[in-house]
Amino acid sequence: MYISKLFIPILKNNPSEAKIKSHQLMLRVGMIKQSSAGIYSWLPLGFKVMKKIEQIVREEQNKIGAQEILMPTIQSSEIWKESGRYEDYGEEMLRIKDRQNREMLYGPTNEELVTDIFRSSVKSYKTLPQLLYHIQWKFRDEIRPRFGIMRCREFFMKDAYSFDITDEDANFSYNKFFLSYLRTFKRLDLKAIPMAADTGPIGGNLSHEFIILAETGESKIYTDKRIFELDSDDTELERNSLKSLREKFDEFYSVTDEKFDKKEFEKKVIEKNRLQTKGIEVGHIFYFGDKYSKPMNASVDLPGGKKDFVKMGSYGIGVSRLVGAIIEAKYDEKNEIMKWPISVAPYEVSIIPMMNKNDTSSLDKANNIDIELRKSNIETIIDDTDENLSSKVKKMNLIGAPYQIIIGKQTEGDLLEFKEIGKEPRKIKIAEIIKILKEQKAKI
Ligand code: ATP
Ligand code: MG
Repeated sequence: MYISKLFIPILKNNPSEAKIKSHQLMLRVGMIKQSSAGIYSWLPLGFKVMKKIEQIVREEQNKIGAQEILMPTIQSSEIWKESGRYEDYGEEMLRIKDRQNREMLYGPTNEELVTDIFRSSVKSYKTLPQLLYHIQWKFRDEIRPRFGIMRCREFFMKDAYSFDITDEDANFSYNKFFLSYLRTFKRLDLKAIPMAADTGPIGGNLSHEFIILAETGESKIYTDKRIFELDSDDTELERNSLKSLREKFDEFYSVTDEKFDKKEFEKKVIEKNRLQTKGIEVGHIFYFGDKYSKPMNASVDLPGGKKDFVKMGSYGIGVSRLVGAIIEAKYDEKNEIMKWPISVAPYEVSIIPMMNKNDTSSLDKANNIDIELRKSNIETIIDDTDENLSSKVKKMNLIGAPYQIIIGKQTEGDLLEFKEIGKEPRKIKIAEIIKILKEQKAKI
C-alpha cells in the first residue's frame, strides 16, 4: 500500500499537550484523534494495532475454553440495584435516561449483566464450569482522564467471567485465566508480572494485577526481581500443573502499593533482589465467590438435590490501554524509533524507495518487492512520496514496521538493503528476506 493513499496524518513535531511517550507517538503518527476529554477516535494505524491485540487476546481466551459472547454497552439500572452497586459505583458511572424515563447506564464492567444472563439459563451443576467473555467498549467517567488512551473514559476491554460450584473448581478457573494472561502478554512481547492486588470496588478475596514496568505507570510496585525470570512454558491446562504455576509465581514477593508492607518486603526479599518501581496495569483478575450470585440469586441445583449460589470470578484486560503500554515499553524516545512486536505491527515491512525525477526505476522495484512479499502474506507499506530518503526513514521509524527495505544508490541487482528497524542494514536477496520474516512470524 502506498503511504500517499493511506490515512496516516503525521505531525512534524511532538504535540505539546502529550506528557508521556505513548500519547506523543500516537498523536504524532495519527493513531488516534481526541474527540472530547478522555474519548478518542481510532484512526487506521492505531485501529490496526488494536485489532491485532484483540485477536491475540481472543485466541488465548479460546485456548482455555472460554466462550465469546457480546453484551451491550448500554445496561439497565435494575440489575445494578439488585447487586447493590448502583449507588456504590458513584460518579464513575455514566447514567442515562431513555425516552420512557428509564434509568440506563453505559457499562463500566459487566458482572451484573453476565450474572443475569447466567441465572436465566443455567439451572444445574452439570453445565458448570462456564467461562464466558466479551470484548466490548466500556465507559468510566474517570475523574482525571489523562495520558491519551492509557487512562481515558471510553476504552476497549476484554472481560471474562467464570462460574463454578466449589471454591476449588473456581480456583481452577482462576488459574486457567492466570495462564492465559501470561501467554497473552508474552505474545505481545511484554513482560507482565502478576502481583497480588487489592480487590477494590469489584470486591472479593483473591486477585492479581498484571503489570508491565514503566516509569510513567500509575501503579507503584514492590517486587522480588527474580519473578522476571519465571515463565509459563511447560504448564498444561490441567489442575495440578496450573496450581504449581501459581505457586511458582506466588512464592516471590510482588505487590502493588495497596498491599505493600515494608517489614514483610524486607524480611522476604534480600536487598539485592528488591525492586521498587512503577508500572502500568494491563490486566486484573479477581475471584469473588458469591458476591454477585447471592444478591442476584444465581444458583444451581447440586448433585444431592440442594441448591447453592455459583462461585464467580472476573478477568479483565485493557485491550486499548495495551496499545499505549506496548509503546511505553518499546519506544526509543531519544532516537525516535518505534519497533512494534511483529505480532501486532500495523505493517511488517516498510519499503522505502529513493525517488528521482523522471526515473521510476526505484518505485518499480519497490512495487515488485511488494508483490513478492504480499504473496507470502507479509504486510507492507511503500513510501511513494518524493521526500528525501532520510526523512522517509525517519517517518518509517515512527510508524514502526519492524523491518525496512531501502532502495537507493546502494541497491545493486538482486541484493536489497534490508534492516531490522534501528539496526545496521545488510544486503540480501528477497528470498532470504521472506525466509527471515516467515521465521519471525512463526514464533508469534
Ligand atoms: P485502574 O486501577 O487503572 O483504574 P481498574 O482496577 O479500575 O484499573 P479493572 O476494573 O480491573 O481496572 O479493568 C480491567 C483493565 O481495564 C485494567 O487492568 C486496565 O488495563 C483497563 N482499564 C481500566 N480503566 C481504564 C481506563 N480508564 N482507561 C483505559 N483502560 C482502563
Ligand atoms: Mg479504575
